Amino acid sequence: MQEEHKKAGLSTRCVHSGELANEHGSPHTPIFNSTTFTFNTTKDLLDVVDGHRPGSLYTRYGLNPSIISLETKLAALEDAEAALVFSSGMAAEAALFLALGRKGVVCIGDAYGGTLELLNVQLRSLNIPVHFLLGSELEKLEELLQTGVEMVFFETPTNPTIEIFDIKAIADIAHMHGALVAIDNTFATPVNQKPIQLGADIVVHSATKYLGGHSDITAGVVMGSKQHIGEIWAWRKNLGQMPAPETAALLSRSIKSLVLRVKRQNESALQIATALEKHPKIKRVLYPGLPSFAGHELARKQMSGFGGMITIEVDGDYEQTVKVADNLNIFRIAPSLGSAESLCTQPVTTTHHGLPEEELERRGITPSMIRLSVGFEDAEDLIEDLEQALKNI
Ligand SMILES: *Cc1c(COP(=O)(O)O)cnc(C)c1O
Repeated sequence: MQEEHKKAGLSTRCVHSGELANEHGSPHTPIFNSTTFTFNTTKDLLDVVDGHRPGSLYTRYGLNPSIISLETKLAALEDAEAALVFSSGMAAEAALFLALGRKGVVCIGDAYGGTLELLNVQLRSLNIPVHFLLGSELEKLEELLQTGVEMVFFETPTNPTIEIFDIKAIADIAHMHGALVAIDNTFATPVNQKPIQLGADIVVHSATKYLGGHSDITAGVVMGSKQHIGEIWAWRKNLGQMPAPETAALLSRSIKSLVLRVKRQNESALQIATALEKHPKIKRVLYPGLPSFAGHELARKQMSGFGGMITIEVDGDYEQTVKVADNLNIFRIAPSLGSAESLCTQPVTTTHHGLPEEELERRGITPSMIRLSVGFEDAEDLIEDLEQALKNI
C-alpha cells in the first residue's frame, strides 16, 4: 500500500491508491497498452530482470504500469500487502489452489458452481485431496485438518442460501493446524467485509461482479501477504492468466466508485428484503440484514454492511417460480451479479443446474428460490417490479 494512504479510509483508497503521478497531471494512471518495454542498455534490462530495481518488462509477467497501478489499489482495498489481478475470477482461484493448496483443500459450505467443479473435477484429477463440508458439518473440520490439508476455502455470505460463516473462529482453528484460510469475498466486497482483518490469510474476488460493477469487465484478483502473492505470481506468469492493460484500467476506473455503488446496493437491498418479507406470496427471504435471518447476529459482528444479494423463496412450485422470474421487467434473468442492472436467477437453472435432487435438498436449495442481485435503480421501482411479478402466479 502506498505510504500516504495507509491511514486513509476506504473511499479515499478507492479513488487514489495506486494511481501513478505523471508529468501531464492526469488524475489516473494512463493506459500502458504495451506488451513489452524497452531498455537503453543491457545493464538496465538486467537490473529489472534480476529484481534489483522495480520496472516495467513484459505484460504477461504483470510488469506493466497499468497492471501494477491496479494491483496497488486492489491490495489497499483489502488491507493486504500485495495483490495480483487475473483474467477472471476462476483464473485467480485456479492459480491460488495450484500455488498454495496442492497438499489439500477443504471447501466449507456452498460455493460458486465453477469453484465447485474446479475443486471436484480438475484438482482431484491432479490427485490433490479435496474435501467438502457443509455448514452443518463444521465439527469435522479439525479431523480433516489433521490429515495435512493446507487450505481452508469458503465464501461468506454463500451462494445462494446466503449462509454466514464465522471467519475469525474458522481461521483460529485452521491456523492451529498450520492451514491457510482463503475467503472468496465476491458477495460481500471490501466495503462490507474485511476478511484479512478478521484473520484470513488470502482474499479472492471475481472482479467481474461488484469490483467491476457494470457487467462489462471479466477479471479476478487475489490479495494476501507478499510471500503468498509471490508464490501465486509464478503460477500466473506461466499459466498466462493476465488481463489486458485496457481491462486493468477499466477496473481501476470502476473501483473509484465502489463504495458509493455498494452502499447504495446495501440500502436498496435492505428496503427490498424488508418489503418482500411481508409479502403473502413469499415464503422466505434470506438476507443478512433482516433480524429474522438466522445468520443476522454473526453478520452484524463481522460485516459492516449486508450487501446487495437477496435470495427469496416463492410460495409456489418450480413452474410458478419460473413465472415470477419471467414476469420481472426491471430485474433481468442472468447468471451474474453485482452490476448496475438488477439481475435475477433461479439457482436450479444456473449455478446449481443439474445437481441431483437429494444433493439440492442436502444443500437447502429449492426450485422455488430466486436469487436477486440489486442494482442501482430506484428501490421503489424494484419493489413494484417484484410485486407485479408475484401478482399473477
Ligand atoms: C462469478 C464468481 C466467481 C467466478 O468468477 P469469474 O470472473 O466468472 O471467473 C467466483 N466466485 C464467486 C462468488 C462468483 O460469484
